[in-house]
Amino acid sequence: MNELEITPSRTTMVGNMPVRRALPRRGHRTVGAWCFADHMGPAQVTKEHGLDIGPHPHTGLQTVTYLVDGEALHRDSLGNEQLIAPGQLNLMTAGLGVSHSEEATRRYEGSLQGIQLWIAQTERTRLLEAAFEHHGELPRIESSGAVATVLVGNFCGVTSPARLDSDLVGVEVRVSGSVNYPLRPDFEYALIALEGSLMANGHVIEPGHIGYLGVGHDEIDFESLEPSSLMVLGGVPLESEILMWWNFVARNRDEIDSAFQAWLDDDGRFGTVASTLARITVAPPFWHAPR
Ligand code: MN
Repeated sequence: MNELEITPSRTTMVGNMPVRRALPRRGHRTVGAWCFADHMGPAQVTKEHGLDIGPHPHTGLQTVTYLVDGEALHRDSLGNEQLIAPGQLNLMTAGLGVSHSEEATRRYEGSLQGIQLWIAQTERTRLLEAAFEHHGELPRIESSGAVATVLVGNFCGVTSPARLDSDLVGVEVRVSGSVNYPLRPDFEYALIALEGSLMANGHVIEPGHIGYLGVGHDEIDFESLEPSSLMVLGGVPLESEILMWWNFVARNRDEIDSAFQAWLDDDGRFGTVASTLARITVAPPFWHAPR
């Protein structure tokens, strides 16, 4: 039986916020269809300055936003303007194209901490229309040593109301004692510590670390060393290679090129976000760099 592998996340900046990037990581670029995980903050925000991530495009992926602390404001090219608070879920499906911003709320100041995850969309939905869902309440599994909140998919027989395009699960677990959960042996799993130190199958995990558990496990034990929380992400390992560049998930460079050009040309594919923040862009893909 393969062991839990624990590796450090990479620290970077997104907008105004320090983030610990747990995925993609060397060796396991994806875990199920989960292809990106940024643990944002904790950082102090003001009413006027929060994440401050201006309008930017996505294609071929779903963004899963979940806060541990604070509030943030989502705006997108579908016309949604949505405040999110701890315990709630924003799920944006990019399909062929959407753009969004993550902004200060104009009302909240204090600590902000959360996680943003990406799910690679399936062949069936990745070229279809964009969509957005907010879930103000998510189902919970309460046991003596932990409370699990099911963001997407099914965990311990409890199913999230959020849209689910493929076989995967995302759960936040707050651990205050000892708990044992059943796992799906056909899933691989990532464990991303958000707050506090805990033991997972006898290994210490703390914020800034990601644990990886390959397929073939049917249970996991968590034990808190202090009040702690983590994200448990699972799914059937992807069969096909995906190509990720900037904010796009695609299958080949041509798809990336046309998405990037559409964003540069502002040709309507990614719509318009009603934001006062500047549109974000980056240098072209390295395969266009002069030699
Ligand atoms: Mn985004």
